[in-house]
Amino acid sequence: MKAVVFHAIGDIRVDDVPEPAIEDGKDAVVRLTASAICGTDLHFIRGTFSGMKKGQILGHEGVGIVEAVGSEVRHIKVGQRVIIPSTVGCGTCQFCAKGYFAQCDNANPMGKRAGTSFFGGPEAAGGLKGLQAEKARVPWADANLVPIPDAISDDQAILMSDILPTGWFGADLAEIEQGDHVLVFGCGPVGQMAIASALLMGGRVIAVDRLPDRLAMAERQGAQIINMDEVDVPDAVLKLTDGDGARRVIDAVGVDAQHAHGGPDEPGMLGKAKEKLEQYLIEPAARKFGTHFIAGDNPSQVLDWAVECVAKAGTIAIIGVYPPTDRSFPIGMAMNKNVTLRMGNANHRRYYDVLIEHVLAGRLDPQKILTQTEPMTDAIDAYKAFDERQPGWIKVELQPAA
Ligand SMILES: [Zn+2]
Repeated sequence: MKAVVFHAIGDIRVDDVPEPAIEDGKDAVVRLTASAICGTDLHFIRGTFSGMKKGQILGHEGVGIVEAVGSEVRHIKVGQRVIIPSTVGCGTCQFCAKGYFAQCDNANPMGKRAGTSFFGGPEAAGGLKGLQAEKARVPWADANLVPIPDAISDDQAILMSDILPTGWFGADLAEIEQGDHVLVFGCGPVGQMAIASALLMGGRVIAVDRLPDRLAMAERQGAQIINMDEVDVPDAVLKLTDGDGARRVIDAVGVDAQHAHGGPDEPGMLGKAKEKLEQYLIEPAARKFGTHFIAGDNPSQVLDWAVECVAKAGTIAIIGVYPPTDRSFPIGMAMNKNVTLRMGNANHRRYYDVLIEHVLAGRLDPQKILTQTEPMTDAIDAYKAFDERQPGWIKVELQPAA
């Protein structure tokens, strides 16, 4: 079968690979009808997140038809149309039982304290084969496949694999009450879904980004917008909130914000000269974090702004991705403002009942952020356009069978 395969930093290819098979009684094999490219995939390709093995299949967003199930699968049936949530849980451990699927004790083969397990990532994240493929093996199928009604299209469903539940998770963490000002940093796909969720929860949303196409999309959704390249962000937020700041803040940017001055994570790294990529990879931790500290500037502009812009006794929700090595946060100002800080990898599985209801009722329409649909055979060109942040390339669906 065809799949998008990681070969090295800056080098991915559409290859022929062996088809997956049932390896455990709780597994299912799904034939994918839709996949997608996520900003997180770019971290692996650019090398911001290391540990990707040559041969790993990329992708953690998928929709498809169940093709086979293991002998111990009880609820999922062959032929069912399903969403595959990005993060993997066993469904029965002490954390899954409380809805913390991203902190499952069993899903990561590296051990119960090894961290969130997801499809298409490095070995440290469990090393499960990714979903930018014609077929995928899904462990604990009863917990990790979500049957969907026919009324939800593939174009909607593919955005419910990761983007919508993650945005909703951010809005949920932010503890939004009716009428709250909700400041959303980052208007990429997850930021857009956080905006949609926050609006549905009764928030008055202010969205921050620097890319005009993303800001325009946020504005169409009903957010007030701030272009961070044009105005002083904290100043603009205070003006829009009667001098109070925003009661709720969502960081939907994460580590991307650390590289405004160039580095392995700058847009357009895919396809650049190998030597340049290797030069970036020399002692990446020391270079990435150390130089910032030596220079005295803070690695995360967004976290600085979040703490500065949040209202007294407000809540900051962090859903943007940071590497485990990141140690910087403006704790002093946060403590002195009685700020509540909530964060983490999304517990996708927890939210499907409510999200399916909202999508069926038209209260959430994730499809509106989908800007491109490409056959998977064109994945490399799609990755390049997405990596370079070409205008209008906000969210890309890949069609494995096309
Ligand atoms: Zn579990």
